Amino acid sequence: MNQRRSASRCAELFDILDEVKDPEIPVLSIWDLGILQDVDLENETVRVVITPTYSGCPAMQQITQDIEAALREAGFTSVEIKQQLIPAWTTDWLDADARKRLREFGIAGPGKTACPQCGSTDVTQISEFGSTSCKSLMRCNACQEPFDQFKRF
Ligand SMILES: [Zn+2]
Repeated sequence: MNQRRSASRCAELFDILDEVKDPEIPVLSIWDLGILQDVDLENETVRVVITPTYSGCPAMQQITQDIEAALREAGFTSVEIKQQLIPAWTTDWLDADARKRLREFGIAGPGKTACPQCGSTDVTQISEFGSTSCKSLMRCNACQEPFDQFKRF
């Protein structure tokens, strides 16, 4: 992924889109999350390729609007956003740095569950759905704190 970005002749466009964060997880940009696939400029039109985190995620509409707004503000008025569904987005696309920031924000990353507060792995799932449908509500048995865990896709 980073390779594609550094090889891009549109590095500037990637930088602009770093401003677009996930509305539910403001510490992660759409690039950090692996939603942003590619950006290109063709005849004054910016073409953006995104992969939704999972189909029907309500945040995607907001993200699409935020992409358009960020580019428009940077002077690009013609924007085309294409959704790429294959390969499907997976939480494996979150790198170590993204997982760390997620944890600091109080959300456990996907996969092996550890309490973002105290690091204990002695946790119980309270509900399959947390604050949003892409997270589960968990509770730490060590410190009793409830927390959200990003589901694995
Ligand atoms: Zn804990």
